[in-house]
Amino acid sequence: MSDLTRLSAAELASLIGKKEVSAVEVATAHLDRIDAVDERVHAFLHVDREGALAAAHAVDRGEITGPLAGVPIAVKDVVTTKGIPTTAASKILEGWRPPYDATIVERLKAAGMPILGKTNMDEFAMGSSTEYSAYGPTNNPWDLGRIPGGSGGGSAAALAAYEAPLAIGTDTGGSIRQPGAVTGTVGAKPTYGGTSRYGLIAFSSSLDTPGPCGRTVEDTALLHAVIAGHDPRDSTSIPQPVPDVVAAARLGATGDLTGVRLGLVREFAGDGSEPGVSAAFQEALQKLVKLGAEVVEVSCPHFEYALPAYYLIAPSECSSNLARFDGVRYGLRSGDDGNRSLEEVMSLTRDEGFGPEVKRRIILGTYALSSGYYDAYYGQAQKVRTLITRDFQAAFEQVDVLVSPTTPFVAFPFGSRTSDPYQMYLADLFTIPTNLYGGPAISVPCGLSEGLPVGFQIMAPTLADDRMYRVAAALESAVGTFTPPAL
Ligand code: GLN
Repeated sequence: MSDLTRLSAAELASLIGKKEVSAVEVATAHLDRIDAVDERVHAFLHVDREGALAAAHAVDRGEITGPLAGVPIAVKDVVTTKGIPTTAASKILEGWRPPYDATIVERLKAAGMPILGKTNMDEFAMGSSTEYSAYGPTNNPWDLGRIPGGSGGGSAAALAAYEAPLAIGTDTGGSIRQPGAVTGTVGAKPTYGGTSRYGLIAFSSSLDTPGPCGRTVEDTALLHAVIAGHDPRDSTSIPQPVPDVVAAARLGATGDLTGVRLGLVREFAGDGSEPGVSAAFQEALQKLVKLGAEVVEVSCPHFEYALPAYYLIAPSECSSNLARFDGVRYGLRSGDDGNRSLEEVMSLTRDEGFGPEVKRRIILGTYALSSGYYDAYYGQAQKVRTLITRDFQAAFEQVDVLVSPTTPFVAFPFGSRTSDPYQMYLADLFTIPTNLYGGPAISVPCGLSEGLPVGFQIMAPTLADDRMYRVAAALESAVGTFTPPAL
């Protein structure tokens, strides 16, 4: 048998289904690969060998069948897993073992997917490089001296390093798509409310969206179908059937985009993308035109305010959500020596438990929500959010999807953007508008710039997740997939 870690999830599922390989062999191959390379990649914060093998055995005994039964998966550490350490890459949650599974984790288990472990990320999903993980960064398998994107850099790196065929991410402002782009993998942010937030450690509740990560568009769609769908335990979950994203991906793979209108956002042009990123994007766009697509320029005049609006709304919601980490209920408690007041213990715990970026966001959000400033900052940002939503709605009257590079730059070297938060925030220039609107978007590898992967973003109207998969699969069929140098 060839190296199982190199196969796609669809290929693995088919081999397991035909009993040509056992789920235990597949899980073991990936666990061994993690043992061999993760010291250098550091994609994982926790590996659950025993749990993964037990789940694989259940599939081999015929207890669970299904389209991804026996295909192992890595889960971002911001998603709760019963009994398995879940830290959101923060010191404040060190040692916490959740008493319950997130809904999406329940669905992975019901689908017979062994969970290999929990992946590294920026603390509480705030960042674009994993450099804000309290447990050290993840290294990009394309170049170990560069960032793998963030916040879900661990999930993306695990895929690129062949440690897992599939992974779960969460996307609040780009944390699935930007890591996908800079590691040459696929990442999809579903429609907000299309995947359950129950059991996600909340960052910005009106934006947080869990979603699938894979090495191919079809694999990503297969995982999307497993985790998506209504959940009564999440009040913003959409009570509607999930569009058939797998069929859409297979249709797209036939390479016919006749009559599909792709919108190029005028305001994204001259946006400061690296020349190599723009060139790879334009080349891929021409390939879509050859498949029959039509390119239409559209105007979204409020997109230029998306980044400032996001950096008021997300920190505001985070300042409220993170109030629960008080040293009483979970994880770390500092200075509780019997002589300190409750307030002193809380304050010490939060001072020692949170890293600098999380503190920056809490302070910013608390300020934006404070009396006297609320209307000027938070209220204004909400109005901008409405205008951005209207820009999307107007654009989708003219085109089927919007397209752009996923992120303006390729994977950058460690330390090159940490001294100026704004430089880091620019990583999400193209991904954030979609989060404010709530629609689905996907990043697909489209080429290389200076030997590093470039991502192509496809944004679709809310609930039209199938449409973005069709275009994504067509793009993949035209440009192929990209393999990093051997580790
Ligand atoms: N990089 C963005 C931020 O720092 C997005 C994070 C995310 O999507 N979780 O907030």
